[in-house]
Amino acid sequence: MPLIAIRNLTKLYRMGDSVVRALNGVDLTVERGEFVAIIGPSGSGKSTMMHLLGCLDRPTAGTYEFNGRDVGKLSDRELAIVRNREIGFVFQTFNLINRTTALANVGVPLFYARRTDITTKARAALDHVGLTARAAHRPSELSGGERQRVAIARAIVNDPLLLLADEPTGNLDTRTGEQIMDIFHALNRRGVTIVVVTHEPDIAAQARRIVAMRDGKVVSDETAADYEARLGLAPARRPRGAATGPLAATGPLAVAAQCSAAAEPASAAVGAMNGPAPAGGAATSDSPEADLSLPPRMARGATTALVIGAIGPLLALALWTSAKVLIVATGGVPRVEPGALPPTPMLIAAGLGLLSLLVGLGVGCVAIFWGRSVLHHVRQEPGHWLGVGRARLGIALGGLGLAMPFLLLILNRALGSVG
Ligand code: ADP
Repeated sequence: MPLIAIRNLTKLYRMGDSVVRALNGVDLTVERGEFVAIIGPSGSGKSTMMHLLGCLDRPTAGTYEFNGRDVGKLSDRELAIVRNREIGFVFQTFNLINRTTALANVGVPLFYARRTDITTKARAALDHVGLTARAAHRPSELSGGERQRVAIARAIVNDPLLLLADEPTGNLDTRTGEQIMDIFHALNRRGVTIVVVTHEPDIAAQARRIVAMRDGKVVSDETAADYEARLGLAPARRPRGAATGPLAATGPLAVAAQCSAAAEPASAAVGAMNGPAPAGGAATSDSPEADLSLPPRMARGATTALVIGAIGPLLALALWTSAKVLIVATGGVPRVEPGALPPTPMLIAAGLGLLSLLVGLGVGCVAIFWGRSVLHHVRQEPGHWLGVGRARLGIALGGLGLAMPFLLLILNRALGSVG
C-alpha cells in the first residue's frame, strides 16, 4: 500500500468571476520511504499540492489516499489528528514562535498530541538535529540554519510518516541548505517519506525522484539521475555516510551532528542576514533549565458545568429538607377534612417539595447539556486540555439531579416507615 495515492486531484480557486485551476487532475503515487522533490515554475501548483498532501486543504475533485485512508472522508478533527501525528511540516520561513525557546517550539506538536513527556521528547528531537546546546535559545538568537533545524526537530518530534518541506532551503545559503538536505536524507534513511518543494535544481537533484509540475499538472516524473542527465547537471553530492559525531549512538540522524558542527560559520552569516545577530557560541552546554512554557489549556465552561451539576442535587435536597423540617416543626401532617384547605405551613411545605423536584430535574438537564457541550468542544480541538474531569463530573451530578425526585421519594418513604 503506497503512503500517498492521489487520483485526478483537482483544486479550483474562485477569484471573483474567474476560476483558477491550481491543480488540474493530478495523479501521483508515493511509496513509503521515498524522497521526492516537486519542482516547477511559480504558479504551477506546487504549494497547492503541498497543502493538499499535508491535509491542510481539501481538493475540489479527485481522491487522496494517505496511509490507506481516503482523506476526503475524514472529519476536520480526524484530519487535525493526521496532521499532528503522521505529517511533519517544514517551511521556507521556519514558522517558529519567536517569544519562546527552541525547546518549547519543538514541544508544540506534542502539546497538541496531549503527550505528557513533552520535554524529554522535544529534547531528543533537538538532539537529533544537533541542537541540544541551543534548547534554551529563542529563534531570534539562532542563525537561519539553526532555526530551520529547530523547525525540522518540531516536524519530526511526533515521529511522522511523511515530512513535507516547502522551499526549506529558500532562505539559506547553499552550504547550510545542503546541510538541511543531509538531515532530510538521514530522516529518509530512518524510514520517513520526504516530499520537498523547491525551485532550486541542485536541491531537487539531491532527492531520489523528481516530479515536475506546470499549469497544475505533472509534466514529468523521473529519477534524480535522469533529471541530472537531462539538465546536464553534475551528479549531486551524496549525503554523508556513517556517523562519527556525538549523535552516532542515536542512529541514522547522527549525520545531523556533523551538520551542526560544520554549520556554524555559514549559518551564523545567514542568521545575521535574517535578523538579530545569532548568539553564536554563547550557549556551549546543554540547557537543562530550558523553559517549556506550554501549560495545558482549561476547557472553557468545565467549572461552570461542575458548579451547575452540584447545585441541582444540593438545592433539591435543601428544599426537600426545608419542607420536611416545616412539617415536623408544625406537628406533622394534620388530618384535613374533605373540602377544607390544608393549613398554610402544609401548603408551603408542599410547594417546597414540588420546587425541589423541579430544581433537580431542570438544573440537572442544564448541567448535562453544559458538560456535554464542553466535551464536544474539547473533542473538536486536539490539545492537552484540563477540565475534562470537571465536565464529566458535572454531567454525572446533573444525572443525580435528574434522579433526585426518585431518590427523595424513596427517602421520604424510608423516613415515613421509620417514623
Ligand atoms: P506554486 O506554489 O507553484 O507557485 P501555487 O500552488 O501557489 O503555485 O498556485 C497555483 C495557482 O493557484 C496560481 O495561479 C495561484 O495564483 C493560484 N492560487 C493559489 N492559491 C490561491 C488562493 N488561495 N486563491 C486564489 N488563487 C490561488
